[in-house]
Amino acid sequence: MTNVITDEKQDVLILGGGLAGLVAAVEAASAGAKVTVLDKMPPMRGKRIDKLYAPGGAANDTYRAGGGGLARFALEGPIDELLERHRERGWGRVDLELMRAHLERVDNYCRWLRDDLKMPYDSKWNRVLGRGPAICPFFYGVCEQKGVRFLFETKALKFLTEGPRVTGARARNRQGEFDFKARAVILATGSFTGNQEMMLKWVGPEITYLPLITGSTHNTGDGLIMAAELGARMDNLSVCHVRTTDKLLGEGPSRHMVNLYHLGIYINRNCQRFIDEGVADSDAIANAIVYQPGNEAALIFDDKARAMHPEEFDSYPGKEEAILTAGALEELALRIRVDPAGLKKTIAGYNSRVSDGKAPDLPVPRTKHALAIEKPPFYAVYPVWPGLNHPLGGLKIDTRTRVLNLENEAIPGLYAAGSIVNWAFGRPYELAGVKTYKGSYHAGSSSGLATALTFGRMAGQYAAGSE
Ligand SMILES: Cc1cc2nc3c(=O)[nH]c(=O)nc-3n(C[C@H](O)[C@H](O)[C@H](O)COP(=O)(O)OP(=O)(O)OC[C@H]3O[C@@H](n4cnc5c(N)ncnc54)[C@H](O)[C@@H]3O)c2cc1C
Repeated sequence: MTNVITDEKQDVLILGGGLAGLVAAVEAASAGAKVTVLDKMPPMRGKRIDKLYAPGGAANDTYRAGGGGLARFALEGPIDELLERHRERGWGRVDLELMRAHLERVDNYCRWLRDDLKMPYDSKWNRVLGRGPAICPFFYGVCEQKGVRFLFETKALKFLTEGPRVTGARARNRQGEFDFKARAVILATGSFTGNQEMMLKWVGPEITYLPLITGSTHNTGDGLIMAAELGARMDNLSVCHVRTTDKLLGEGPSRHMVNLYHLGIYINRNCQRFIDEGVADSDAIANAIVYQPGNEAALIFDDKARAMHPEEFDSYPGKEEAILTAGALEELALRIRVDPAGLKKTIAGYNSRVSDGKAPDLPVPRTKHALAIEKPPFYAVYPVWPGLNHPLGGLKIDTRTRVLNLENEAIPGLYAAGSIVNWAFGRPYELAGVKTYKGSYHAGSSSGLATALTFGRMAGQYAAGSE
């Protein structure tokens, strides 16, 4: 194989052209740097977007972050309160300095997208629109205007180094292998959702084989493997985000029936309840289902509950397929493939304990929102599955987005942003008696998109200015 060495030295070389890499490219080019972006995939345009990402077909039609909005132009509270929430939910393992750097910028950076880059903006929801990775074509346009060079279907293989300093990367495409020399390299190759070996090693078998909701199967941890060769530090690799989904691999009942689902009960294949539905959120329920037989459950409620939130029921996406209806519990049991006598017994036992919105004295007590299930027709969202969003751990960076080594020293010339970075800021923890993996994800204004935006832009700034 020919080994061609590029003669043109770039200022900033960006590995990975997803959201973080693209935002970094815009920023670095705006600061006057000569920028090249390598991505191992073809450009993200048109139908390719659906094919390449989330084979199950994620139902997201907006590109949201931080509990609703890439970009929502308001923090979900004062920064100190948000930091405190991250500290608590991350079990003291949150990098508060890094989180502060993110929170201090995210609102302004959203405005930058809307006001400076003229990204389409939805005033109703106060957010910038785009469907999942469909946001990429918008950034391609901005990058082209700023003279950024793209090489698609070009896979980064390893870093070039001189002593401790990263001086570029070797990459391969159909034409052969190329060495790209650069003053600074930004690693933005995403997480390791698509690398089963890494998933098994770090996250475990229970999660590895779950249906994939939003992560890309093409994010195979390449950048993490490359950085590990340089002795980069990685944190919290076992943390990941799992949430409920339905047979259509949509957003699931806990997101589309935010009030209604609290009025029903979840049962497993053995007709047993397994979680306090009154307090559990989507993620806790999903993590609990991971440990149920067959990794599936049914959410059951009656017509009284439906009538309390008819709009949630009526607008549930794909409800004809995802929600089963029956005039009697025995019939519902057959439709969800459980023992009819077992279902009747569980519901009779549950109903007999319901009083004042609680159902104590049960193997799994119910502390809130309990409603007897007695008025036909009866409904079941079935199956409800846990779906994998993506791992949340990754490279340790500092507040200048420099990648740190095991001694916590910056590796000269190397920056990182996006889901390759440990922005989960936590470790597995328990909620409603269930081991939940997400750390402080969703603890406030800090989702995947929001952090890809802030750290991507910061990486572009710092890499462009690096000596
Ligand atoms: C359909 C969908 C919906 C989503 N919805 C939401 C949401 O509502 N809210 C939210 O917060 N998050 C959401 N996410 C997650 C969010 O998109 C990610 O957290 C964010 O895009 C991460 O950005 P990134 O740049 O780090 O990674 P990515 O966007 O995954 O980009 C990584 C890039 O690196 C490239 N790459 C990988 N390896 C190599 C290599 N060796 N050489 C060269 N290139 C390489 C890949 O091809 C890819 O283009 C959604 C994701 C999807 C797919």
